[in-house]
Amino acid sequence: MTKEIQELIEEAIKLVLDAQKIVIFTGTGLSTDSGMSGTTGSSISTSKESSFPTFVGNPTTRRKSWQTWNMFRMIELAQPNPAHYAITELYTMGKLDCVITQNVDGLHQKAGVPDEKVIELHGSLRRVKCVNCDRRYPIIEVAKRLGDGEEGSICSECGGLLKAATVSFGEPPPTAEIEEAEQHARNCDLFMLLGSSLMVYPAAYMPIYAKEAGAKLIIINVGAASMDESADVLIDMDVGKVLLRIIEGVKNKLA
Ligand SMILES: [Zn+2]
Repeated sequence: MTKEIQELIEEAIKLVLDAQKIVIFTGTGLSTDSGMSGTTGSSISTSKESSFPTFVGNPTTRRKSWQTWNMFRMIELAQPNPAHYAITELYTMGKLDCVITQNVDGLHQKAGVPDEKVIELHGSLRRVKCVNCDRRYPIIEVAKRLGDGEEGSICSECGGLLKAATVSFGEPPPTAEIEEAEQHARNCDLFMLLGSSLMVYPAAYMPIYAKEAGAKLIIINVGAASMDESADVLIDMDVGKVLLRIIEGVKNKLA
């Protein structure tokens, strides 16, 4: 690691030490080490193929969608990587306000961050929901039913269609999650943007809200992020390696 990177890491360590309420924002760049390629998160949920009107209106699309079920089951098998665990350490230290994520893989929770501390902007592949009555089912339950030879993807409550509880193209954005995320962004003292280039609104507003409220901003991402010029510390590198060094540094200072 170059001297320059080392200095940036030192600056980030200082910001983390000074912070009491950290909001972590994660994108697909965080999960690339977990056997989930960069395509896992949002591309499933935003492709036109699986768009909500198409899903509801077209049996062929639905059948095809359920053929990708194996991919959804992969989510059950995916394991958090060291970067997920590093974020969990912030929770253990009492510094984590919440995680806002664009990922649908549920790996923050698997790494030990409580469910109520994770705001999933694009929904979750860990759950399946009925498009009619909105009832949620654990993915493992539905996968088991399919494995037992059940043909369909039908709600046992109302007979409605089941689909992964992700936000699809053409589906209304999750207002509650967006509002909750905004509230946390406006009340944090440090906002860390990790592995996301934030091209999508309204997610892209979150660090702006944080800066407006006087929070510091750390960006760790390969390639440019849309908020680069506002960052207090900007590290253009893979999140995994850098984040571990920052958290180690924080722990050493606290010890
Ligand atoms: Zn239902």
